[in-house]
Amino acid sequence: MDTFTIKTTKREMIVDITDDVRKCVEQNRIDDGICVVYIPHTTAGISINENADPSVKTDMTDTLKSLIPESSHYRHSEGNSDSHVKASLVGSSVTTIIENGTLCLGTWQGIYFCEFDGPRTRDVWVKIIRSA
Ligand code: ZN
Repeated sequence: MDTFTIKTTKREMIVDITDDVRKCVEQNRIDDGICVVYIPHTTAGISINENADPSVKTDMTDTLKSLIPESSHYRHSEGNSDSHVKASLVGSSVTTIIENGTLCLGTWQGIYFCEFDGPRTRDVWVKIIRSA
């Protein structure tokens, strides 16, 4: 397994980690396989979405904020229930295809780390599995 860390600077933000994941794929030197990117946190997640227009990231965090407000009648004593709900909705892993040594993503796609309870230092786990 490969790992890397990222430091987030806001309570909620989306960070493009596509290049970090590509680096892991290149270092593993495999031609064909799959790549699983996993976020081992309960208040952060991962998503694949458009990386051409930066306002998509802001629209995603703003929409999640309006759907799941920070303050509500939550029972969880830690005070970050909205972060847990957002993390579950976004999900904790994505899987991508590796072909000819390259991470295959659609033209407009990027891999986004989604922070919902920052700022923090976060871990990203990457498992690359070679095709038989
Ligand atoms: Zn909590």
